[in-house]
Amino acid sequence: MRNLAFALATTILALSFCLPVQQSVVAQDDKRAIGQDVTDSDAFYQAATRAPKASRDNSRRVEALVARMTLEEKVGQMTQLEIGMITTGKDQDIRIDPSKLEKAIVSYGVGSILNVKDQALPIDKWHEIIRQIQEASQRTRLKIPVIYGIDSIHGANYVQGSTLYPQEIGMAATWNPALMQRLAEITAVETRAAGIPWTFSPVLDIGRQPLWPRFYETFGEDPYLAKVMGAAFVRGVEGDDISSPNHIATSLKHYMGYSFPLNGRDRTPAWIPENYLREYFLPTFAAAVKAGARTVMVNSAEINGTPGHINRHILTDILRGELGFQGFVVSDWEDIKKLVSQWKVAANEKDATRLAVMAGIDMSMVPSDYSFSDLLIQLAKEGGVPMSRIDEAVRRVLRVKFDLGLFENPTLAAPTSNLGTNESRQVALEAARESMTLLKNDNNLLPLAKSRKVLVTGPTANSLVSLNNGWTYVWQGNNPNLYPKDRPTILQAIEARLGKNVTYVPGVALDKEIDIQAAVRAARDSDASIVCVGEGSYAETPGNITDLTLNEPQLKLAEAIEATGKPVILVLVEGRPRVINRIADRAQAILMAYNPSNEGGTAVADVLFGDYNPCGKLPFTYPRTTNGYITYDHKLFETEETSFGNTAFKPQFEFGHGLSYTTFTYNDLQLSRKTMPMNGELKVSVTVSNSGQRAGKETVILYARQIVASITPPGRRVKRFAKVYLEPGQSRTVAFTLTRDDLSFIGADNKPTLEPGEFEVMVGRLKAGFALEAAPAQRRSR
Ligand code: BGC
Repeated sequence: MRNLAFALATTILALSFCLPVQQSVVAQDDKRAIGQDVTDSDAFYQAATRAPKASRDNSRRVEALVARMTLEEKVGQMTQLEIGMITTGKDQDIRIDPSKLEKAIVSYGVGSILNVKDQALPIDKWHEIIRQIQEASQRTRLKIPVIYGIDSIHGANYVQGSTLYPQEIGMAATWNPALMQRLAEITAVETRAAGIPWTFSPVLDIGRQPLWPRFYETFGEDPYLAKVMGAAFVRGVEGDDISSPNHIATSLKHYMGYSFPLNGRDRTPAWIPENYLREYFLPTFAAAVKAGARTVMVNSAEINGTPGHINRHILTDILRGELGFQGFVVSDWEDIKKLVSQWKVAANEKDATRLAVMAGIDMSMVPSDYSFSDLLIQLAKEGGVPMSRIDEAVRRVLRVKFDLGLFENPTLAAPTSNLGTNESRQVALEAARESMTLLKNDNNLLPLAKSRKVLVTGPTANSLVSLNNGWTYVWQGNNPNLYPKDRPTILQAIEARLGKNVTYVPGVALDKEIDIQAAVRAARDSDASIVCVGEGSYAETPGNITDLTLNEPQLKLAEAIEATGKPVILVLVEGRPRVINRIADRAQAILMAYNPSNEGGTAVADVLFGDYNPCGKLPFTYPRTTNGYITYDHKLFETEETSFGNTAFKPQFEFGHGLSYTTFTYNDLQLSRKTMPMNGELKVSVTVSNSGQRAGKETVILYARQIVASITPPGRRVKRFAKVYLEPGQSRTVAFTLTRDDLSFIGADNKPTLEPGEFEVMVGRLKAGFALEAAPAQRRSR
């Protein structure tokens, strides 16, 4: 079965990758785009998590090298410094400082350097920097190459001229793991084109706290969707062989539970009992480890009072003992120091270093001094950290370096001609289009005819910064000068289609009124108004907010335009669901764009004017009120108006919601059996038809629920999905297979639990029930 699934998925992939991605606007509904025929999530997942082809076994080389190393050399391999520690100058004038370089690489034997100092660099500059670093590494006694790591978050965003694509939240809205895998391959090639063999991605945290400023970096609120997309990401970046110039190593982050802070702010406490940690936050990491990921980065915050960096249970018992992870674990930024300054679990940095290394940290992102190296050497000499633990960490780091081929060629790089190709740009455009999620379209206002006279207004209408968000050329994404000049904003893409039929009046800035009345006057003169609202750019703590409500000036602008009585289309360009209940009802159409990146202006215009038929579906629940966020997989009673009246679950838009310009009808939900033996299989099939006038794509989502369970059962959980392409009038039967693993949950004892009884599966509005049989032994004991 696994082989069959694998064969199926690879055929689909092979087929889709061989075929050209369409460039012309007329052909955008063409089914030949990536992964667009039936891509069953499970077939894809099985293929993505198959064991990578056995690459060369470097264990003996690792052992031989470790045997020759001094304590100082070993600790050097466990140390990671930021680039500013070896450079001088700013921005584009950054250059290696020879004496700093000598100190770091030759005297301290530092094994890893990370990131950019200020901003993305041209590829030649990267080559020069990496070459000098590796030349220094070759002047050391054992000539161990440095592993350079970088945040390639939505493409190789710190390499000028790279291909950027939607942030993970938008990629999740495509429900298209083949597209994710293809873009991850592009990221690997373009990062390695700079000579950099390691990315700090994917983010596998689950987005269930919408205030959290890193929400947009996640694949949304559902663990199953996120796990399929995450495995696709890892497989795309790492391929089968990371010594290939087309692949690099991933870092799964931030292991684990980082994304669920109680108060919504970055790097603050989460309370997550272990059964829920395993149910919701572990599966993405487990899947990505299975897919072969080489490194893991640690949760910068704390869970249940234990900071991620000293959590031995998570870093060692679960990661190594249960998941069998073989790679190395890197700390997050300065997080050993923060055990003292912030978390107060250690009185001094030396003790913090001991706690972190003993918990399972193999490499410390120090990143701006030599304290880690000095303290760890002292600790090893005094016996505070046994040499066996240091050897273990060093072995893991060296194995990744060997596997990456760095010993053979420390500056191994993909050809620069692979950077930012037209083909890659088309894939990014395809992803931006597939992410577009049409949330509302009263009276089929959209698509708009190109002959209509429109007002374009709002603070995100003319901003590549908003389209991209953080991790774009600079950490915060907020330097407009660095953005490419040839990628249209939403406004420019609309102007390119409508010419003089467009009036642009900004009305407000993100958080400030400019001239709302001017926008109102222009709205009265137009047939419709496209009001682009949302957020600017932010990353990590600077993106903290205390209120999910869209900023007041933007609400006022939309309200004023709506009051004209002319049709309003809201376009949401935002990294988390900002509450819009004041303006949602009177807008006839609402398009969720997320952060679709540099091709996003084109993608938004394609959808608004009907050059592309939208197919994105929300990967999270869009709350109606600031304190009304309840995930789709809540307990059933939370929806009961009898108990909760108007406080019952009533989101602005549901998880999985997304309209099309055609209509899809579901029929004939069939189960292969009414009773499923515990070790058996259940086939679920459903027929989906395009009952409208236009070709389009539909994501078929299979949910299931257990009627009664020993832990209160969720009302539904996603179990499978498949994205299908249908011509008007065409039907397709989609079949999924469920096994016991799909019906089990983490019980009160923190273990996978399978309980016989009644279940229900749901697709669209269709439902069907079946029973899971007790195993013979269980039957007898009852
Ligand atoms: C972030 C990580 C990132 C690292 C290096 C940290 O502040 O939490 O996600 O990889 O910085 O830039």
